[in-house]
Amino acid sequence: MRKIELHWQILIGMIVGIVFGFGMTYLSWGKGFIADWVQPFGTIFVKLLKLIAIPLIIASLVKGISDLKDISKFRNIGLRTIGIYVGTTVVAISVGLLLVNLFQPGEGISEATITKLTDTYASDSGVTSKIEEATRQKDSGPLNFLVDMVPDNALAAMSNNSLMLQVIFFTIFLGISMLLIGEERAKPLKQFFDALNDVVLKMVDLIMLTAPFAVFALLAGVVASSSDPELLLALLKYAGVVVLGLFLMIVFYAIVVSVFTKKNPFWFLKEISPAQLLAFSTSSSAATLPVTMERVEEHIGVDKEVSSFVLPVGATINMDGTSLYQGVAAVFIAQALAFDLTLADQLTIVLTALLASIGSAAVPGAGMVMLVIVLESIGFPADKLAIGLALIFAVDRPLDMCRTVVNITGDATVSMAVAKSVGKLGQPKVKEWDDHLEEVK
Ligand code: ASP
Repeated sequence: MRKIELHWQILIGMIVGIVFGFGMTYLSWGKGFIADWVQPFGTIFVKLLKLIAIPLIIASLVKGISDLKDISKFRNIGLRTIGIYVGTTVVAISVGLLLVNLFQPGEGISEATITKLTDTYASDSGVTSKIEEATRQKDSGPLNFLVDMVPDNALAAMSNNSLMLQVIFFTIFLGISMLLIGEERAKPLKQFFDALNDVVLKMVDLIMLTAPFAVFALLAGVVASSSDPELLLALLKYAGVVVLGLFLMIVFYAIVVSVFTKKNPFWFLKEISPAQLLAFSTSSSAATLPVTMERVEEHIGVDKEVSSFVLPVGATINMDGTSLYQGVAAVFIAQALAFDLTLADQLTIVLTALLASIGSAAVPGAGMVMLVIVLESIGFPADKLAIGLALIFAVDRPLDMCRTVVNITGDATVSMAVAKSVGKLGQPKVKEWDDHLEEVK
């Protein structure tokens, strides 16, 4: 029998999960059953992916840098990557602002809907906690992000998934120092990290065997805990504008792939699709990172020298989907609550959404925290913040799922473009999960 391709398996798992989740909401005990007996399997899957993220970043970045043999190459890749990341994010925010000004989704929202959404969500802990977190993040100085990037304890940094940039900093430092002591003396360490890298990639393969079942559990959980469908309907136009913008970004990436790497964009989208489906199911670029790395290296052919740096950095600082959403959401809230925006305000949104998406953590719902900072930058009254967030809260999870897909697709596209520009885009070498199974049986 022909094996069903992984992306189809995952897609089937997702569809069955959605149908099952919907079905269960009609039973009085359905939601409880999903929360107690189905969702935990999804949570375990996400934990497994997060578990291997830090070892994978370290092993693959050390391997990437120590294969370079020349530090100036690394500087070249680094500068290019950051430059292109900023460029794609500005494109994303501009697309979002263009669409939201064109379609004006906030204008048609009735007073009654605003009141209903405010009553339902303004004092919801989901909304208030986001405002509190934003206040905490905002109270820091302008260079604080640099200070935060440097760890004072390597092991402490490695023990916390939200300190990924610190781990990247430490690993680059380690890799460069390995180059400087010379190949011969660094050899044992290099061999260790090379082997660790292969082992962790095998772990990705093994975890992915359970992906179709895990996405079933994750999506059944999302559907069973989603908001009142009536409220979702009221926000359809706003959600439609965000989704249209995100779709246009995928088209943009396809064009970038075709023009800059001369590869078939449909082939690219097919090869990256398992990572996209996982991003959709988990709403977390950080949890998806191990799969994104595996797909980009083994299935697309980007050399580790490039992907090992571009992808982990991208997962934390390049969030095109999130920044597009922040632009649309900020203007939508302003429109709905009759807060006039000047052109200067919209330009401020471009700048703050760019910085905010860099600062957003790669976890579910992080984009909404940064949205608070974007709103404050245009002088949005502090007492109305909770009402503003309440307006979009009902559709935040589904939009988070969609924007995370764009976030990781953007990272993968940039890794291909950078790889091509430095002559590091080769032929894919797919490794199956059972490559050596016979030898160990
Ligand atoms: N969930 C997104 C991510 O992990 C961040 C966000 O937009 O909330 O990429």
